[in-house]
Amino acid sequence: MVDVLRSGWLTTGPKVHAFEDTFAKYIGAPHAIAVNSCTAALHLALDAIGLSEGDEVVVPTMTFAATAEVVRYFKARPVLVDCEPDTLNIDPTGIERAITPRTRAIIPVHYAGHPCAMDRILALSRHYGLRVIEDAAHALPARYHGQMVGTLGDLACFSFYATKTICTGEGGMVIAASGEYADRIRMMSLHGISKDAWKRYSAEGSWYYEILNPGFKYNMTDIAAALGLVQLGKCEQLREARYRIAQIYDDGFREVPEILTPAVCANVESAWHLYPIRLAVDRLKIGRAEFIAMMRERNIGTSVHFIPLHLHPYYRSTYHYRAEDFPNASAAYERLVSLPIYPAMTAEDAHDVISAVRDIISSNYL
Ligand SMILES: *Cc1c(COP(=O)(O)O)cnc(C)c1O
Repeated sequence: MVDVLRSGWLTTGPKVHAFEDTFAKYIGAPHAIAVNSCTAALHLALDAIGLSEGDEVVVPTMTFAATAEVVRYFKARPVLVDCEPDTLNIDPTGIERAITPRTRAIIPVHYAGHPCAMDRILALSRHYGLRVIEDAAHALPARYHGQMVGTLGDLACFSFYATKTICTGEGGMVIAASGEYADRIRMMSLHGISKDAWKRYSAEGSWYYEILNPGFKYNMTDIAAALGLVQLGKCEQLREARYRIAQIYDDGFREVPEILTPAVCANVESAWHLYPIRLAVDRLKIGRAEFIAMMRERNIGTSVHFIPLHLHPYYRSTYHYRAEDFPNASAAYERLVSLPIYPAMTAEDAHDVISAVRDIISSNYL
């Protein structure tokens, strides 16, 4: 970053291009375009497939705001689908039921870093002629049957937000399987202009440019890309550290029937971005909110991923969703708590969390 600041080239330039090339090679994808958020990446991906007003996109309810809001940018409809009861990933059976003649795409979210049932999702997309855009905001690095997540669909979007598995402050990456998508995304990410600033102002370039479309201002800076290159180099090591914490948690909660630990399918490798447990609130005197407050009193921060979209006022009132329409996500939501998981966490920290959880549970049996 200091080199970038001294170079005088602060915005999109050589570091961004190096970050894109390194990222594409790392996950084994033909095209990577760095942008300033995963939300921007999702917006550009939907633009690239030509989403239009009145179209429908199948989206999980168990996700963050970004996955569905980008569909609304096009006056298209996000059609929410319930999750699988074990992984909390989008349920392929629910996807098939949600498909109509207006459906254009599916956006599977690899929840908590655990890959979705991509074999079934890709089979559906082929059968119904739909595009698949992976929301891989949690899933760097994750593998599905040995293949890197982000290379499974037509397009994929990663996040380098402060809380994600690698971070550039704010940032994102779009992965495209085809050169046609990649060219469109590159052009639309910077004002719909035919050449980027680096080519325009560098010695070899020229002053001439053409506006081909009313595009967006979604380019990544070289300052962020310098951070990203260093972070990417540590990506496997950071995952390994999170995986070790997940194993300590799995062992520590094995004998605790009030805690349901995250499910892991065969032939996948999760990125372990989150460690969401489910509390058996029906066996306890306390609810989830009290549990979180008691953890807080012990100086342990937790969160909830996520409040399903169908329970939020906008989606409830716009599309008249009811909790009963999404039985798995609605039931999971009442019980979900994400425990701390991050690379700098020590084994001792993880054992402290386990003790706190066990202590709170054993003093609050019904
Ligand atoms: C964080 C997140 C995003 C958005 O990422 P930004 O880089 O903050 O725009 C999208 N989808 C999911 C599932 C996320 O968790």
